[in-house]
Amino acid sequence: MLNTPQFSPELEAFRLTVRQFIHENLPDDIRQMVACERMDLPREAQVRWHRILHSQGGWCCPSWPEHYGGPGWSDEQQYIFEQELSLNDAPRLMIYGVGMLGPTLFKYGTEEQKQRVLPDILEGKIFWCQGFSEPDSGSDLASLQCRMTEDGDEYVINGSKIWTSDAHLADWIFGLFRSGGGERKQQGISFLMIDLSSPGVTIRPLKIFEDTHEVNQVFFDQVRVPKENVVGVPGQGWEIGKYLLSLERFGTAEVSRTKASMKRLTQLAFAPAAGGMRLIDNVDFAERYCRIERSLHALEMTERRLLLGDQRAESVDTGASLLKIRGTEIQSDVFRLTAEASAHFAAVDIARDYTELQADNPYQVGDATRNYFNYRKTPIYSGSNEIQRNIIAKAELGLS
Ligand SMILES: Cc1cc2nc3c(=O)[nH]c(=O)nc-3n(C[C@H](O)[C@H](O)[C@H](O)COP(=O)(O)OP(=O)(O)OC[C@H]3O[C@@H](n4cnc5c(N)ncnc54)[C@H](O)[C@@H]3O)c2cc1C
Repeated sequence: MLNTPQFSPELEAFRLTVRQFIHENLPDDIRQMVACERMDLPREAQVRWHRILHSQGGWCCPSWPEHYGGPGWSDEQQYIFEQELSLNDAPRLMIYGVGMLGPTLFKYGTEEQKQRVLPDILEGKIFWCQGFSEPDSGSDLASLQCRMTEDGDEYVINGSKIWTSDAHLADWIFGLFRSGGGERKQQGISFLMIDLSSPGVTIRPLKIFEDTHEVNQVFFDQVRVPKENVVGVPGQGWEIGKYLLSLERFGTAEVSRTKASMKRLTQLAFAPAAGGMRLIDNVDFAERYCRIERSLHALEMTERRLLLGDQRAESVDTGASLLKIRGTEIQSDVFRLTAEASAHFAAVDIARDYTELQADNPYQVGDATRNYFNYRKTPIYSGSNEIQRNIIAKAELGLS
């Protein structure tokens, strides 16, 4: 791998502390599942790891200030921490509660909402999911129609949300709901938190391409929600949703997860495949491998500049879009080449004991093809890459 510049000696010492903690505390069964890059990690495993991190001074919520039970880390520490989790096959953090709703409540929540919601996220008691998209409102999110109608101290919700990741594992959903009208469709939208065990909520699984159950459709039929579950004020939902989505897009570049995937590709590239040949000795393969490696390195440098460098403040919109586009493109390239490479090991797998390659690496030929198909989703979710390009173009051209 190409070398990336080091951080200060203090930060590199922090990196070693994190790495050692992961080595000593990450349960092996969880590490093995993550090393196969499975997206459908059971809730039990996620909670177990979350609580281990929680016991270490709030490491489960790296972006949270100490005041709310987080470690109060600098941006650089958070960045290094996430890198080490990825590179050492630890699970992703619980993105919806930890990475999205938590920081959104810091900014827009009432004191009562913070007291009620944040401790359960911190302690891994409550799982959240995100209800933005609807059957006819994806890219054009502001056209959403799932309706909340005022009735005394409550709202009554009717409609449905679709592609809701992890709704089948979650206890609560946060989302955007139509509470009124206005000249612009962005008006009359509110941000609401809903208990998924409420009467009238139905969750139906949607199997994706390679048959994993990650996403769902969530139906609301006369679901009653207390008014204190509105975040911000009614009608402020679009502003709050945009803020929350900007938090999501910084995560979707997944540079360090892709570096971990690259490590697995590297193992395949340099190991003897069927017929005893190494793939890296094939000129076409080597050229594609090196191009991906260079692109990933360039993206990592760009990510550091945008997240940690002088440009961090001005990069919130277009920087997040740029990272999302390139991050998902390069991730797809890595999975495609890994799937192709793994085919050269299928015969080896059958012909001889594969344990040599597996000793420290549970990754199998089947994982590579499953992951390739699974990750076709990344240019679509979190705002499709076409929509991200529109955002960049509008910003660069000064269009409203
Ligand atoms: C695996 C997965 C998980 C997801 N998880 C969640 C979740 O947890 N919560 C949630 O709320 N949503 C979730 N989504 C939904 C996701 O955000 C939407 O799928 C996405 O916003 C695209 O919307 P759509 O599917 O309705 O496609 P459409 O908006 O119908 O788009 C169809 C195609 O047209 C293109 N297109 C549309 N408009 C334009 C335009 N103006 N300019 C150029 N091209 C355009 C799009 O890029 C796309 O290629 C998830 C999606 C996937 C695939």
